Amino acid sequence: MPQKFERKPLLAPKPIDYLRISLVDRCNFQCVYCMPEGADLQYALKEHWLTHDEILRLLREVFIPVGFTRFRLTGGEPLLRPGVVELVAAIAALPQTQDLAMTTNGFLLTELAEPLYKAGLNRINISLDSLDEETFKAIVGGRGKSRWQDVWAGIQAAYKVGFSPLKLNVVVIPGVNDHEILDLAALSIDRDWHIRFIEFMPIGNDALFKHKGWIDSETIRGQIAERWGLETSNVTGNGPADVFQIPGAKGTLGFISQMSECFCDRCNRMRLSADGLLRPCLLNETGQIDLRTDLRAGVPLSELRERVAALRQAKPDINFKMRESGVTGAYSRTMSQIGG
Ligand code: SAM
Ligand code: SF4
Repeated sequence: MPQKFERKPLLAPKPIDYLRISLVDRCNFQCVYCMPEGADLQYALKEHWLTHDEILRLLREVFIPVGFTRFRLTGGEPLLRPGVVELVAAIAALPQTQDLAMTTNGFLLTELAEPLYKAGLNRINISLDSLDEETFKAIVGGRGKSRWQDVWAGIQAAYKVGFSPLKLNVVVIPGVNDHEILDLAALSIDRDWHIRFIEFMPIGNDALFKHKGWIDSETIRGQIAERWGLETSNVTGNGPADVFQIPGAKGTLGFISQMSECFCDRCNRMRLSADGLLRPCLLNETGQIDLRTDLRAGVPLSELRERVAALRQAKPDINFKMRESGVTGAYSRTMSQIGG
């Protein structure tokens, strides 16, 4: 009988104060689980991307007044956004910003880690699905040499400059990188890094999902526990991860189990796409607001505030419905398009 690990209890909904802002819907990688090569993705027109001024105006006049104080910049690949450091500095300088984080593939981080840190970025999550150059290449795509070395150098640069805890995101795919679960988990033993195993979702590459299937967090925890033992960590994040630790390790292990153990009831985040669509949930567009069109059409900011406040208020109910229906269906838009 496999060991069962204690997860976070199901909680009353938290205040919805966390906005993920996609800076660009394109990417310099084509991860097999997210943006497979040959996929016919409809990118937003660049002139439809919210400008820096529009993002800042929306934060100052709409999102902050209705209660959002924590922001994560994502994409696509957020480091592809021209002027990203200046934008980080401007958001960090807003007096109400309590937390400013970023999720990146790390490819451009060697140069940008220090300026981002100095600009006021508080936290960074870097995707790293493999420690093996060939496997990495098979996952992220691209012709020519593997980009693993660049990403690894970016991770080191972020660590050196002071991002702490440094979080690494891993999507485990059977037959692709599941043989590296222990090697990736071991990164948390000697370093205060937080390795987060994210269950593969049928969003982005449904064919791969059907072909390979997915591995649940409990199985991953079981493998790690068998090797080193595993205990619940005192560190609890703000997000949906269940946090554990290899006994005596400096760092921690997080498990994001949206497939096996729906956490919609705990979800406190909303998402703004690069072209200005605000949605209440990664997988649900109920009540979506086209802020770009409204802003550019001159709709008063007071009216946008009211609409965003109403959607925020409706979210617990949307969360509840998502929990009831489950998240295991297939989705036509990728996380890179929505803002992962
Ligand atoms: N490009 C950045 C990166 O890769 O970190 C940020 C955007 S990416 C869409 C954000 C996160 O979504 C990454 O950690 C990625 O692994 C995850 N992701 C993308 N597609 C996924 C899928 N089908 N299932 C689970 N996680 C996925
Ligand atoms: Fe790009 Fe991130 Fe998607 Fe990979 S997971 S294709 S790096 S957006």
